Amino acid sequence: MTAPFAKLSFWGVRGSTPTVDPSTWRYGGNTPCLELIAPDGTQFILDCGTGLRMLGNRGSSPSAGSSAETHIFVTHYHWDHIQGIPFFAPLYAENNEFHFYSFRSKFLGRDSLKQVFEAQMAVPYFPVDMSAMNAKRKFKEVDGGETFRIGENEITAGWLNHPQGCLGFRIETPAGSVVYATDNEPGDAKLDQSLRELAAGADIFINDAQFTPEQLTTARKGWGHSTWLEGVKIAEEVGVKNLVLFHHDPDSTDKAVDSILREARGKFANVWAAAEGMVMTLDGSNVDVVIPAVREGLRRDTHFRAMVTGYTDTGMAFEEETVIRDLSLHGALIYLDHSPKLQSELQVQLDNPGIGGPSDGPLRLRGYVVRIENEAEKDRTAVGIVFTE
Ligand SMILES: [Zn+2]
Ligand SMILES: [Zn+2]
Repeated sequence: MTAPFAKLSFWGVRGSTPTVDPSTWRYGGNTPCLELIAPDGTQFILDCGTGLRMLGNRGSSPSAGSSAETHIFVTHYHWDHIQGIPFFAPLYAENNEFHFYSFRSKFLGRDSLKQVFEAQMAVPYFPVDMSAMNAKRKFKEVDGGETFRIGENEITAGWLNHPQGCLGFRIETPAGSVVYATDNEPGDAKLDQSLRELAAGADIFINDAQFTPEQLTTARKGWGHSTWLEGVKIAEEVGVKNLVLFHHDPDSTDKAVDSILREARGKFANVWAAAEGMVMTLDGSNVDVVIPAVREGLRRDTHFRAMVTGYTDTGMAFEEETVIRDLSLHGALIYLDHSPKLQSELQVQLDNPGIGGPSDGPLRLRGYVVRIENEAEKDRTAVGIVFTE
C-alpha cells in the first residue's frame, strides 16, 4: 500500500567525531545517519555514522512485514560516515538484505566499500570479523552525475568538494525531494555549480554547516566543509524550500548551534538545525518538522511540593519535604537542607497537581544527582538531578 508521504528521520547529525559532552546533548552527538522512508515503503539510509546503531536497535524495521528493501548510500569513507556499520545489528541477521551504494575510490579501486567494511573489522581493530555478518549485502558503485531508480523514486548522485572525494545524493520521491549534501567545501567553480544543480528546487536541502563563515576563510580553509551562510546562498539561488544545517562541529555546543541557527534565520526563514531525533515529513506540498519533546529540554517554573529521600555525603539517610521550582522533561533543580552525595540516587515523590485530569496519587521519580551547589540559598544546597525513570 502506498502512503502519501515521505518521512525523513535524523539519527546522527554531528560531524567528524561523536560527542558525549552534556553541552552537545540537545542537538546530539552521533555522527551522520539519516533515514528516509519513501511513499512506496522503500527505506533509504544515508550514511553509516554512529547514529546507525540507534536506528538498528529500534527493534522493527519500518518496512517489516512488507517486501520493501533497504538501500544504504554512503557518501564517502571518512570515519564519521562509516563507524556505525559494525554496530548495526540488522547486518548480523541472516534474513536481512541490504543494498549499499558508494563510489570507487582511487585509493582503494574496485569494491571500495566492501574493502572498507573488511578493513574496519580487521584484526586488531575489531573483535569479530566479517564472517559474523550474516545479512546479504549487495554493493553498487555510483558515479557523480549518475541517475537511477529505486521503486517509485529517482536518485541522482553528484560530486562534492571534499578531500578524497564525496558524493551528494538527491532522492526524488512522489511526496517531494530530499537532497543530502554533507562534507563539502565551497570554492571549486565546477563543483559549486553541480551542487546547485543537485539542490535545485529541493523540498529539503541538507547541507554541511560545520564551520562559521569566519573559520572557513581562515583556520579551517581546505578541511572540506561549509557554512550556514553558504547553505543560505545556495537555498536562495536555486529555490530550496527548507534548508537543514548539518554536520555540526564536535566543538559546537548547543548554544553555538543555536546562535548559528539564529543568524541563518535572519537571512532565510525556513532553516532548521539538524537535531538527533528530528523528523521531517513531506506530503507533496508541505514539510512538517517535529523534534521529540525529550530533546527539547523545555524548562518550566513550577511549585510542586515534593518529598525527597536519599543519602548525604557522609552516608546518612535523610527524608525531607521541599518544593520543586524548576522542572524539565529530563531533570529538576531542587533546594535541600541536606547535601546529597554527587552521583547518588534520590527518590522524589511529587504531589500530583492533577492539572487537566484526575489526580491519581503522587508521582514517584528516581533522580540521579548531577550537580551540587552548597549554600546556594542561605544555608540550603541547590541540587540538580536527572530523572532516571
Ligand atoms: Zn564528515
Ligand atoms: Zn569527510
